[in-house]
Amino acid sequence: MKIKDILQEKTPHISFEVFPPKTDAGFASVLSATEQIAALNPSYMSITYGAGGGTSKNTVNIASYIKDKLGVTSLAHLTCVSSTKEHVNRVIEELKKQGIENILALRGDIPKDSDFPLPNQYKYASELVAEIRSKGDFCIGAACYPEGHVDTEHKNDDIHNLKTKVDCGVDFLTTQMFFDNPIFYNFLYRIREAGIEVPVVPGIMPITKGSQMKRTLEMSGTVLPQRFRDVLDRFGDDPKAMQQAGIAYATDQIIDLFANGINHVHVYSMNNPDVARAIMHNLSDIVKNG
Ligand code: FAD
Repeated sequence: MKIKDILQEKTPHISFEVFPPKTDAGFASVLSATEQIAALNPSYMSITYGAGGGTSKNTVNIASYIKDKLGVTSLAHLTCVSSTKEHVNRVIEELKKQGIENILALRGDIPKDSDFPLPNQYKYASELVAEIRSKGDFCIGAACYPEGHVDTEHKNDDIHNLKTKVDCGVDFLTTQMFFDNPIFYNFLYRIREAGIEVPVVPGIMPITKGSQMKRTLEMSGTVLPQRFRDVLDRFGDDPKAMQQAGIAYATDQIIDLFANGINHVHVYSMNNPDVARAIMHNLSDIVKNG
């Protein structure tokens, strides 16, 4: 099923993300987590793509497994930053062969000290979107950044670039994580003003480890509201308490999004079925998946 059709639903829906193993040795544990998360009946599941391109086979295989064996719609991520155009096109062909209808088209983070872009690489995700669009009847998603992308100094330029990307053939957007919902509401208002009309799925990351937070923030440039800093200060060193508090915080954000008219939230569940299960439990009378 195409995600753009799922996003037409007018009742609260939840989807989850998993990431592929870095080596074949980790495959079994990722499959087990994927199966447990799929059993929660999410409206779809996304599978990330290693920026280096080395795990592309695993992304395609897990996306097929989710769709064919677990009966859940899958969304395969695809990045182009560390691959040639030929490699990216081979992956698109493979996705098509496997009957995967949904692709999240991304550039990926530019590796330090690289000569990106080489002549045979896509420079921006917008170029990848156009390529996928020309290759078949895919439903195409792309990333957006309520707090602005770190590479672009001015938020207005980022929104202008986002409009260009959407106009290349994007069907829906998924946001970078955020911890303060008004930042998302404000972003939504600004992109609608800029003429971006496709559905936007907010991405929520339950922070369940104090150490995880520091790394996450460094990578994304995401602002932490004082309310969440207080949670981290109080519970960050107590793993069980932090997990409970992180799940409660994410649940609270999701309920606020639904209460404000959003119908679909994507949860960065980080291959953790316990976290995904707890969130679904907290929302058991609210979410209407299926
Ligand atoms: P782009 O849309 O190309 O934007 C990158 C930067 O270039 C932005 O600052 C933009 O404003 C600027 N830009 C775009 N077009 C132009 C232009 N024409 N002229 C000038 N500037 C321009 N990474 C992974 O490695 N694997 C994943 O699976 C993955 N999944 C993700 C899922 C989501 C929902 C999100 C939000 C991010 C994900 N990422 C993933 C991270 C992402 O790859 C990085 O944030 C990357 O730095 C940007 O990718 P993009 O597709 O947003 O790039």
